Amino acid sequence: MTDLETADAAPILPVVAVVGRPNVGKSTLVNRIIGRREAVVQDVPGVTRDRVSYDADWNGKQFVLVDTGGWAPDAKGMAAQIAEQAELAIAAADAVLFVVDATVGTQDVDEAVVQILRRSGKPVVLAANKVDDQRSEAEAATMWNLGLGEPFPVSALHGRGSGDLLDAILEAIPEAPREVVQAERGPRRIAIVGKPNVGKSSLLNKVSGQQRVVVDNVAGTTVDPVDELVEVDGTIYNFIDTAGIRRRVKEASGHEFYASLRTHGAIERAEVCVVVIDASEPVTEQDLRILTSVEEAGRGLVIAFNKWDLTDEERRRYLDREIERDLVQFGWASHVNISATTGRHVDRLGPAIQEALAGWETRISTGKLNAFLGRIVAAHPHPVRSGKQPRILFGTQAQAGPPTFVLFTSGQIDPGYVRFVERRLREEFGFVGTPVHVEVRARE
Ligand code: GDP
Ligand code: GDP
Repeated sequence: MTDLETADAAPILPVVAVVGRPNVGKSTLVNRIIGRREAVVQDVPGVTRDRVSYDADWNGKQFVLVDTGGWAPDAKGMAAQIAEQAELAIAAADAVLFVVDATVGTQDVDEAVVQILRRSGKPVVLAANKVDDQRSEAEAATMWNLGLGEPFPVSALHGRGSGDLLDAILEAIPEAPREVVQAERGPRRIAIVGKPNVGKSSLLNKVSGQQRVVVDNVAGTTVDPVDELVEVDGTIYNFIDTAGIRRRVKEASGHEFYASLRTHGAIERAEVCVVVIDASEPVTEQDLRILTSVEEAGRGLVIAFNKWDLTDEERRRYLDREIERDLVQFGWASHVNISATTGRHVDRLGPAIQEALAGWETRISTGKLNAFLGRIVAAHPHPVRSGKQPRILFGTQAQAGPPTFVLFTSGQIDPGYVRFVERRLREEFGFVGTPVHVEVRARE
């Protein structure tokens, strides 16, 4: 895997998301803070702006401001859309500048955003904007009722109060870059799946061997009766639905249907799936269907080509061709060539599972992601469409497990360009053994 720490040398600046209803003055405030007339402000609510993130500094400290305004929400469902935008921006940010309009007081939408802010646990600075003179300061004080602490009265238009606000922003930015806190949880959930007779039960027997783990000994674990804790290379995994694997299903009509239901259930419950394929036989439709289910469910994927002892050189050459022809879309998967019978390379299964789990859980910081996107956009701009140049403005990783990215764009991005970005993401950051999802939020 690519070493994430050295993948790019750009400094990682803290990100401050500017959040609030349309027309409260976010864009004006951003202009005030960056001290430039860079963001376009017009008296039209939700007017198109051509940038989203700006480098700012105050007292020699640098940070990135992300303006979430500019996405014109429909009249219907406006609150929900603002909340959704805010949620993404907040997830990406190290601190949040929440802007309210002191002259109109708080609204339902503000309350919805406050809920999200509370849940996020991110530091928040509350700006009560449009306090153009001393007289309106009393109005700002009513914003204490949002429960977000002291409201900073400012006039984005005239600059009033902006120094104190900037001091508060710097104070809110965490000193150390934010780290992903791993929640306490039980063993990772792994499913061994594959069509009948490929060697799932033989493989399970081989990896579990003598290492059967007693459930009671693992703290904080709830294990389904059909599951089994198995130790591989000193790590305890929860293998899903091993009862279904151990109980040999007789080949009879109807069983196939139940077997496929179990497979889907196991994939849904797993974090990483080991798809076992019989390497001695041609790859079948059924193998491909199971692989596709894993990808669509967004699970980590290890492909185990089993019965390697039964392959000769000719078969292996043919398998290479099959992989190139039929499995090319799963080129990102971890894979192992094993024999459950002889034990060949079964010891590589543990590292392959670890690799897939690591890829599946990778988080790319907003700073790193946008440095990367900036390079892509500069080197390979989107083709011009009807005289317009669609562009990626800003991106954030909305989720891990599997890595899910949201790109904010101006104009509609071609699906081919999205695939290109996905390929480049993989080249840059690895993501071995995991599907990667890229979503686009376009504004016209
Ligand atoms: P956004 O949609 O939240 O980004 O809001 P804008 O920055 O586009 O501002 C909306 C309107 O409020 C514009 O007409 C601004 O000129 C106006 N405005 C912004 N800040 C202030 C302020 O501090 N005082 C007054 N009086 N008007 C402001
Ligand atoms: P499952 O239906 O996927 O659980 O498959 P099983 O584990 O029951 O294996 C099906 C058959 O293939 C059994 O006869 C196994 O002995 C055989 N088998 C499994 N793995 C291997 C292998 O690596 N090499 C060889 N030669 N036979 C294997």
